[in-house]
Amino acid sequence: MIRYVLLDIEGTTTDIHFVHKVLFPYSALHLPAYVKAHSQEPVVQEALQSVKETIQQEENRLLDLEGCIAVLLGWIEQDRKHTALKQLQGLIWKTGFEQMHYRGHVYDDVQRALQNWNVKGVGLGIYSSGSVQAQKLLFAYSEAGDLTRFFSHFFDTQVGAKREVESYRRIVTELNLPPLEILFLSDVEAELDAARLAGLQAKQIVREGTLPSAKHDSFPTLLAVEKTTTGPRS
Ligand SMILES: [Mg+2]
Repeated sequence: MIRYVLLDIEGTTTDIHFVHKVLFPYSALHLPAYVKAHSQEPVVQEALQSVKETIQQEENRLLDLEGCIAVLLGWIEQDRKHTALKQLQGLIWKTGFEQMHYRGHVYDDVQRALQNWNVKGVGLGIYSSGSVQAQKLLFAYSEAGDLTRFFSHFFDTQVGAKREVESYRRIVTELNLPPLEILFLSDVEAELDAARLAGLQAKQIVREGTLPSAKHDSFPTLLAVEKTTTGPRS
């Protein structure tokens, strides 16, 4: 029996190209002006401090504001999963969503699968390397309308990296459920491996362009998985 489904975003609920072709370029374009305009705000100051510390540790270099911006733009290019970058991107993307410069992409099957799990009494949550704020925006302003009501929890890299077993252990503790009653869905084999090592069930979603894993059961859509899951109320 599955009591909870934990979902990855990129490549699972959402086209991986949405983030890379829409959100990343938008954040790169707006980051320099945003950081300069908001450099006195605590959240931005904290992120910049974190960038400075990382570069000091890794390269023994001291950064000023322009240096931080250059590093952040480089990280966007590399898709580095640094919490400071994710937080700043979350703030910038908020403006874009609120001003309707774009809507969050979700595959056609997503809304119905969430509804069906919801009816079955299965809890739902997100675990993505995008910040919690960015996750909420994507689902609040999605192409299928506001989907945030379906989710009880949003996890980002504050609980740890997606390929580390310990991250999934922290999520299990937070959800307070037996790990085997939690199903993690992702397109990435290494993430599924880590989740399984923490005792969760893990299945792969294979969208167009996904590299299929030989180690995990795979499904083309969330609806296809949903049909196979038995929730507490069914
Ligand atoms: Mg993914």
